[in-house]
Amino acid sequence: MKNVPRVAVIGAGCSGITALKNCLEKGLDATCYEANADIGGNWIYSEQESHSSVCETTHIISSKTLSEYLDFPMPEDYPDYPSHEQVLRYFRSYADHFGLRTHIRFNVRVERAELGEDQRWTLTLSDGTTEVFDYLLTANGHHHHARHPEGIAEAFAGRYLHSHDYKHNRSFKDERVLVVGSGNSGCDCAVEISRVAASVDISIRRAHYIIPKFFLGKPADTFNKGLQYLPGFLRGPLQKLSLRFQVGKYAAYGLEEPTEPVTKTHPTLNSELLYKIRHGKVHPRRGIQSVAGNTVHFTDGSQGTYDTIVAATGYKITFPFFDRAMINYEEADRIPLFLRMFHPDYPTLIFIGLFQPQGAIWPLSDMQSRVAAAYMTGEYVLPSKLGQEAEADSDHIEREFTRSKRHTIEVHYHAFMKRLERELAKGRKRALGKERELVG
Ligand SMILES: Cc1cc2nc3c(=O)[nH]c(=O)nc-3n(C[C@H](O)[C@H](O)[C@H](O)COP(=O)(O)OP(=O)(O)OC[C@H]3O[C@@H](n4cnc5c(N)ncnc54)[C@H](O)[C@@H]3O)c2cc1C
Repeated sequence: MKNVPRVAVIGAGCSGITALKNCLEKGLDATCYEANADIGGNWIYSEQESHSSVCETTHIISSKTLSEYLDFPMPEDYPDYPSHEQVLRYFRSYADHFGLRTHIRFNVRVERAELGEDQRWTLTLSDGTTEVFDYLLTANGHHHHARHPEGIAEAFAGRYLHSHDYKHNRSFKDERVLVVGSGNSGCDCAVEISRVAASVDISIRRAHYIIPKFFLGKPADTFNKGLQYLPGFLRGPLQKLSLRFQVGKYAAYGLEEPTEPVTKTHPTLNSELLYKIRHGKVHPRRGIQSVAGNTVHFTDGSQGTYDTIVAATGYKITFPFFDRAMINYEEADRIPLFLRMFHPDYPTLIFIGLFQPQGAIWPLSDMQSRVAAAYMTGEYVLPSKLGQEAEADSDHIEREFTRSKRHTIEVHYHAFMKRLERELAKGRKRALGKERELVG
C-alpha cells in the first residue's frame, strides 16, 4: 500500500482550517495544531491584550460575496458586511460541516519546527511531545506581532498603545487622542474612539486612498470586481474617477491627494472616517516629526498635546518556531515565494495565507490549499526553475505596488485567484507529463 504523507498544519485560523480541510479531502493524514482553545485566530474577540483579535465593533471590510470559501457560502441572512461575531460563526460552521475539529489539537502551540536531512519536519509541541511529519503547512497568520513606530513610545509621557492592544473605546472617554496611521486599523480606531473622546487626531504620513464601503448602493469591492476584466491602463483611471464621484477631492477633508494609481496601493476601506472629519470629530494631521512630553510635533510645523497615542502601524511577519537563520521575514522588503507559498529551498514547507489581498484572505487561502494538497498527493508538479519563479513573483509585486514594507506580500485579489487556478491546471499537466515519461 502507498504511504500516505503525514501533514502538520500550524494554526486553526481561517487559513489553517481550509488547509486542513483540503488535505483531508485528498486523503492526506493531516493534523492541525492550534495554540488557542478554539477555531478563528484574529476573529476570536478577546479583551486579553496578548491575543491579537478584532475589536468589539469590527465589521469585515470585504463584502460578503467576496469573503466566502470556494465551496461554502455565507448564510443568506448575513448583511453585506457581517460583524466579527458572524464571521467567526461562519468559520466555525465551516469546520463543523467538514468535520475538522477531531483533527485539530487545541491548546497546543508548536514551539519549534526543525527540518531533517530527509526533508521531514520534527515539531516540538507545548505539551512536551514531539511529532514527525512529511510536510509542514504554516498558517500562523501575519497580524499578531505589532510593528511599533521608532522612538514614539519612549519619548511620549502619556499612555501609548498599539492598535493590536485596542479592543474597545471605553478607556478613552474625554481623552485627547492621537491615532498614528491611516490603514484599516488606524481609521477604525479613530472613528470608534471619536465617539467618546474629547478630541481625536489622526497622523497620516503618506497620502492614502480612503474608500467608502458602498458605491451606487453596492459594496465597493463588487463594483471593482466588474472592472477587473478591463486592461490595467483603463482600470486604474476608472477606479479613480469613481472615487472622485464618491468622495470628491481629498483636500476637502484636509487630506493630501494620493498621486499613485489606486491599484498600486493597499487602500483603506472606511465609510465613516471622511464623515467624522467633516463633522469635526476627527482631525487629520501630517506625519510625526518629534515627540516631547505629551506634545507631538508634526512635519508641517503644527503640534498637538495628547493623553494617549494609538500606533496603528501594522505588524511584523514572524515565524517564532523556525530557526531564524532559516526563515526570517521580520524586516524583509522582499519575500520570494512561488505563488506566495513555495520556498525554493524547502520542498516540504508550504505557507498558507502569507499574502495581503485587497479583499478577504480565506477564499485565496482555500485556493492555495487546493494547490498544496494536489502537490502533496503528486497530482500537481512544481515548475522546474522554482527559484527563478519565486524571484519573478517578488518582481511582480514590486512592479504592481508602490515599494514599501506594507506591500511586501500584497496581491490583487482577483488576479491572484486566477493565477492560482491557472497554475493548478498547469501543474496538473506537468504531473501527467511526468507520469507518461515514467510509463514510457
Ligand atoms: C483588528 C483586525 C481586523 C481585521 N479585519 C479584517 C477584515 O475585515 N477582513 C479581512 O479579510 N481581514 C481582516 N483582518 C486580517 C486577519 O488577519 C485575517 O482576516 C485572518 O484572520 C487571517 O487568518 P489566518 O488564518 O491567516 O491567521 P490568524 O487569524 O492570525 O490565525 C492564525 C492562527 O494560528 C495560531 N498559531 C499561531 N502560531 C501558532 C503556533 N506556533 N502553534 C499553534 N498555533 C499557532 C493562532 O493562535 C491563530 O489561531 C483583520 C485583522 C485584525 C487584527
